[in-house]
Amino acid sequence: MQPLYIQVHASDNVAIIVNPDGLAAGTEFPNGLRLREAIPQSHKVALRTVEQGEPVRRYGQVIGFAKRRIEAGDWVREELVELPTPPPLDQLPLATAVPPELPPLEGYTFQGYRNADGTTGTRNILGITTTVQCVAPTVEYAVQRIRQELLPRFPNVDDVVALTHTYGCGVAIDAPGAEIPIRTLRHLASHPNFGAAPLVVSLGCEKLQPSRLFPDQQLPSASGPHLPVLSAEAYLIRLQDHELRGFAETVAAILRYAEKRLEELNRRQRVACPASELSVGLQCGGSDAFSGVTCNPAVGFAADLLVRAGATVIFGEVTEVRDAVHLLTPRAATVDVALDLIREMRWYDEYLARGRADRSANPTPGNKRGGLVNVVEKALGSIAKSGTSALRAVAGPGERVRSKGLVFAATPASDFICGTLQLPSMNLHVFTTGEGSPYGLALVPVVKVSSRTALAERWPDLIDIDAGRIATGEATIAELGWQIFHYLLEVASGSKKPWAERWGLHNALALFNPAPVT
Ligand code: CA
Repeated sequence: MQPLYIQVHASDNVAIIVNPDGLAAGTEFPNGLRLREAIPQSHKVALRTVEQGEPVRRYGQVIGFAKRRIEAGDWVREELVELPTPPPLDQLPLATAVPPELPPLEGYTFQGYRNADGTTGTRNILGITTTVQCVAPTVEYAVQRIRQELLPRFPNVDDVVALTHTYGCGVAIDAPGAEIPIRTLRHLASHPNFGAAPLVVSLGCEKLQPSRLFPDQQLPSASGPHLPVLSAEAYLIRLQDHELRGFAETVAAILRYAEKRLEELNRRQRVACPASELSVGLQCGGSDAFSGVTCNPAVGFAADLLVRAGATVIFGEVTEVRDAVHLLTPRAATVDVALDLIREMRWYDEYLARGRADRSANPTPGNKRGGLVNVVEKALGSIAKSGTSALRAVAGPGERVRSKGLVFAATPASDFICGTLQLPSMNLHVFTTGEGSPYGLALVPVVKVSSRTALAERWPDLIDIDAGRIATGEATIAELGWQIFHYLLEVASGSKKPWAERWGLHNALALFNPAPVT
């Protein structure tokens, strides 16, 4: 392979090395640039001399300032780049460059499960919600029994999932921020892939009472063998109710409810649904310097196709958007949407300040090994996932997204917490990765897109789509974008299963609770 680098923007003074084994000192590029030292793959080379204090540019943006003079052909490492301050939130352009409406894309459908509440499922799953960690092992035990004894009789149902978590008691439930884990659980309980109807197991004495979790539901005074219900659709079992004697009877009660729900779920049929009924959550994990030029732009292209088809596309990860927010507020459809975005950034700035987090808390050692010098470079690559359409709406952490088009849902960047917070609003998940992660979710299929071919080759049974071919010029961003779009429709229909689903890789629910624990 010839020596190859990728310069994203004409004004950039750094570029990343493409060659899988990196390049040796003395390597000369066709344009005469000569490496003064060995540089690993995906790390940056200086294209020209950068004087001390001058900006280092990538993506046409300033990613930092040179701490000392950098010569053309030098390896531009983390320690040579001073971290810039984040864009001030009170000086951002608001809806000043709203992209024009993209041309509609019609005729694309998938086979989905329609729900009474207007949502659409991509899988048919029995979900059992828990109000508190105390009941989690009991529910896990019941789920094993359901899987062995009941599920084989209901071939139309894909799986049984216990929504277990560490929240529910010993928490300051009225403190600011407590609404976040509560509303996340509330929306998860009626997930589109559960048929949008909750089955809930509660202990009885916990802080998070079922009436708090579902304030709109009529609650029965007791549960037991007669199967009382929260409403026509929602079932509730309380372990401390007097009708339930001992563990065996408790498990038997859970199995009775489960059987009733399985009968309902088994009657669901897939029907042809327009692509507009998809709601696709996007995130990255284990990013590298290629992420921003291969997998994220390809996913961004697919995001534009989904938006054109009338679907919802959700991106989040506040700490990986914060340093590029000046590129997003102009794209907001209205001034109000831009202000909503700034509100979420400010909330998170204050949250991090409360915890005295420093600006180097993100990126990770793996990100740095992958060539990312700091969070600014990471953010510029991360927002490529959002494509080019107007930002239509902003949701707070754990709020259910109801808008179509491109939506920012505020979440931490942590893979498992971001996934958990996007879950209530999505029926498909796309995960881009450079360093690699076997990440998967129990409630929705997760499609993994790699930034580098080397990763896709090393993990052929974990990575679904290789976007690394963009770096070598073997494929274009548009080709990969269409490939992702078509693959998502097949995964949504159940006719294709991504690797994480085939292996049954299910990361735990990780609720975001910024409120104190007592
Ligand atoms: Ca992430």
